[in-house]
Amino acid sequence: MEVLQNALFATVLPLIDNCSKFEHGAIMTIPTTKHPVIENFLEKTFGRTTAIEGDTCVFCHKEATEFRNEISRKEYKISGICQACQDETFGVD
Ligand SMILES: [Zn+2]
Repeated sequence: MEVLQNALFATVLPLIDNCSKFEHGAIMTIPTTKHPVIENFLEKTFGRTTAIEGDTCVFCHKEATEFRNEISRKEYKISGICQACQDETFGVD
């Protein structure tokens, strides 16, 4: 029984771990091209498109032109979140 339990834990726990990683990853990797309905929702809720087109941040509404690297710049194009707010939201890597 204990062997079975261990086997179960060995199989199930990594899956759960992967799920949480996926959830985290999903936040970071929302596609830039969105379905019009989602796009509309994001625009209405956060003013995402307007913010990105105007180089401002959806969170703090400050200018968002300086980024630490291409990953952060890409993240901005996706989410409209400036470097400072990205650091606050995702942590500094
Ligand atoms: Zn910001």
